[in-house]
Parts: sequence; C-alpha cells; structure tokens
Amino acid sequence: MDALVKKYAKPGLWLEKVDLPTVEEGEVLIKIHKTAICGTDVHIYVWNQWAQDTIPVPMTIGHEFVGEIVELGKGVKDLHVGDLVSGEGHIVCGKCRNCLAGRRHLCKDTKGVGVNRTGIFSEYVALPVTNVWLCDKSIPEEVFSIFDPFGNAVHTALSFDLLGEDVLITGAGPIGIMAGAVAKHAGARYVVVTDINDYRLELAKNMGVTRTVNTKKEKLSDVMKELGMKEGFDVGLEMSGNEIALNDMINNMTHGGKLAMLGIQETGTSIDWNKVVFNGLHIKGIYGREMFETWYKMTAMLKSGLDISSVITHRYHYTDFIEGFEAMTSGKSGKVILDWTT
Ligand code: NAD
Ligand code: ZN
Repeated sequence: MDALVKKYAKPGLWLEKVDLPTVEEGEVLIKIHKTAICGTDVHIYVWNQWAQDTIPVPMTIGHEFVGEIVELGKGVKDLHVGDLVSGEGHIVCGKCRNCLAGRRHLCKDTKGVGVNRTGIFSEYVALPVTNVWLCDKSIPEEVFSIFDPFGNAVHTALSFDLLGEDVLITGAGPIGIMAGAVAKHAGARYVVVTDINDYRLELAKNMGVTRTVNTKKEKLSDVMKELGMKEGFDVGLEMSGNEIALNDMINNMTHGGKLAMLGIQETGTSIDWNKVVFNGLHIKGIYGREMFETWYKMTAMLKSGLDISSVITHRYHYTDFIEGFEAMTSGKSGKVILDWTT
C-alpha cells in the first residue's frame, strides 16, 4: 500500500510502498478516507530540531484521519466492518495512576501516533480499539478528519466556564479559529481573537467571533475600550505558542482570570510572574483531548448547530502531498486535507 514516510533524516517526506499492517488482538484495520495535516507533521516535514530529537526514521507519519473499518481483530466487539471512524492520536499506557483513575489525557507514558509510532498517512492503518471513535454519520465525513485538532480547541475552550464571559484567544491558527467558534457556541459574551496574520484573522471572523485584532496594527487595550470592557478578560486561551502573545494575555486578564495554555512555548519564554501572583490568575496546561469526553462534546456541539467546516481551506489528493505541505507553510491556510479514496 501507499504511505507518506519520513524515510531519511532530512527535510521532506516520501511516497513509498509499505506492507499492509497486521491486525493484532484488540485492534481494527481501517481504510483511510481522509487525513489532515497538523503543525506537528509540518515540523517533521521541515525536520526542525524537535523532529530530529523525537522522530524515529524511517516511519510513516500523520495522526488526523477519518476512515472505515475493514477488519476486526480478535476480541473486538461493538464495532463492525463498514463503521466510519476517527481516532485518538494519543496512545496511553492504561496502567499509570491517571489512566487507572480514568484521566487518560494525563497518562505519564503517552505515545503519539505518527510521532513515536507508525502514523496514519497510508491507505490502511491498524489501531487499538480503545483509540477509535465511532463517527455519527449525520456529521460531514470531512469534519471527522480534523477531530484531533478540533478536540484540542474544545478541550482548551471548555476548561473553564464560558457562559457570559469575555474570552481572549491568542493565535488564529486552525485551533484558535475553531476555539473561537466553540467559545461563542458555549455562550461567551465577547470572543476576541489576536494574530499577526490577516488571512487567518479573516478565517476567525468567519467563525462569528466578536472581534479580531492584528496586534501589529492595533492595541488590545484599545479594543477592550471599544467593547466597553473595564477590567480585562475573564478567560484566556493561549493558542499561538508565542511569547509576546502570552504576555499580551497576562497583561489583559481580569483579576482572578483563568488561562488555558495549549500553544507550545519556546524554551526560555518568560512572563511577569508577579502579575500572576498579585492578579490571582489561574493557569492550566492542556495536552491533547480528554478521552473521550472531549470527543463526546465535539459531536454534541456539531449536532447542536456548531459549524467549523470553514476552517478547512485546502484539499488535495494524497499523491499531491507536497502542495498540501506548501499550503500549510504559506501562512494562507486553515486546515489542509489529503484525500485517500481515489
Ligand atoms: P499555528 O502555528 O497554525 O497557529 C499559531 C498562530 O499564532 C499563527 O496563526 C501565528 O500567526 C499566530 N501568532 C504568532 N505570533 C503571534 C502573536 N504575537 N500574537 C498573536 N498570534 C500570534 O498552530 P495551530 O495548529 O493552530 O496550534 C496552536 C498551538 O497549539 C501551536 O503552538 C501548536 O504547537 C500547539 N498545539 C498544542 C497541542 C497540545 O496538546 N498542547 C496540540 C496541538 C497543537
Ligand atoms: Zn498511563
């Protein structure tokens, strides 16, 4: 079968023939329909320092997908051949304290599909049934291919009560854009999204957020005045991984404000810790998605009117993956989908 493989320890990705996966006990074999390219895949593609330190070579990469079950491994019940499925990209140990307590997103031994083990950019994939999410067929199939990053947005956004609150989102990448839509859907009063990229701010605007701010051109404090906000944001969702953006957030929170941090910061990022202390801020780190409460909420919100489909801006056949990666690095894309069905 065809797969997109990180074959050599250098920039690039290679379309290769690889063996069909064998289906172990407790696994299902999935025929991939669509995959989405994540920022992590781009790091592996360009072969940055993190990728060089982390990714075994050669390995098939990718972790965002939707597909159809074509074979059941021994012992698999409740799922059927023909079921449409997506899947959780974090494989947990099942044995540590948090796993045993049902807090699997906090597993101390999490392994990433397409990062620490074979990924899903291939025609077929075998996955443990405990990582499979059965898709509700009333939701467009394509949307399930971005359930993994949508789950990052939902896990972060729903970390704190949003009803009637004023929410600041720093970073209008695909995840920040989706978080904007989620925050509005969850009943926030104002949702303000910052970025330094106007294309992406336009995508956020199309999601129905209150106000977008290019922080290279406008001051957040002026926008707060314009909205009649006197004391700062109640909830901050940090989704840029950028130090300036994080400090912008810390400086514009209300006393007692709550921050959920998804963006991966550079080593050495600094903030004024005394603002956290004297302003009584709460900070929560977010990794992945809650298994499977986040997946349940994603489905429920989509079925109750949330629409995130406009975050998907580019679609390619998997053999045109280079164009897909170029779109991802252009700064002029939301989510990029690769089609594996033809
Ligand atoms: P992305 O890189 O596409 O988006 C980040 C956005 O931040 C970009 O649009 C960029 O222009 C913007 N930005 C840069 N400087 C800024 C500034 N000063 N102010 C405001 N915005 C600024 O990333 P994404 O795929 O949307 O993911 C969001 C973040 O979450 C990334 O840092 C990613 O690495 C991280 N992430 C974390 C997890 C997790 O489990 N913790 C999972 C997925 C992604
Ligand atoms: Zn564990």
